[in-house]
Amino acid sequence: MSRTQRHAWLGLGGNIGDVQQAMAEALRWLHGNAEITVETVSAIYKTPPWGFEDQPWFLNCCARITTSLSPEDLLSACQEAERLGKRERTVRWGPRTIDIDIIAYQGVEQNEQRLTIPHPRATERAFVLVPLAAIAPELMLQGQTVQDGLTAIDISEIEVENPTTDWWH
Ligand code: ADP
Ligand code: MG
Repeated sequence: MSRTQRHAWLGLGGNIGDVQQAMAEALRWLHGNAEITVETVSAIYKTPPWGFEDQPWFLNCCARITTSLSPEDLLSACQEAERLGKRERTVRWGPRTIDIDIIAYQGVEQNEQRLTIPHPRATERAFVLVPLAAIAPELMLQGQTVQDGLTAIDISEIEVENPTTDWWH
């Protein structure tokens, strides 16, 4: 029962504790799943908090994977990876050690509460588009490429935190 391999793009971020390590552990854990291959990971970017501004800056990255998991099962795997990252610290509300979102999944458009693909707020979020542009500039999101989407948002505050792309190994 092997399902077709599809590309998917994940957005990872956090602003508590050692976020680089939490993201690296999450990516290694996902890569360790027989049905997920982490193919390309972006550099790590330092980004201003979005929405609720009175909290530390975030670190963010994006990853392209191939997977034979359905979108729903991929979300479950991402949520399991989030739980692993949260194990050491239990902050009930507010800033997070790690958040993993499915930004896009090849060939899938769906609008459900548990899972909307492409991620509905990806194109407004510089912390998603900047790392995503580094690995998938031509990916189409809401009718335009990631690269073109960058021109419509403010990316001026975003800095490169770690320029390497093998930091997660
Ligand atoms: P957020 O990522 O919006 O800051 P959460 O990580 O707590 O907040 O996610 C809230 C809910 O969003 C999750 O329970 C999940 O079911 C839902 N969700 C809907 N679409 C997506 C998506 N594309 N990627 C990840 N989660 C999603
Ligand atoms: Mg999330």
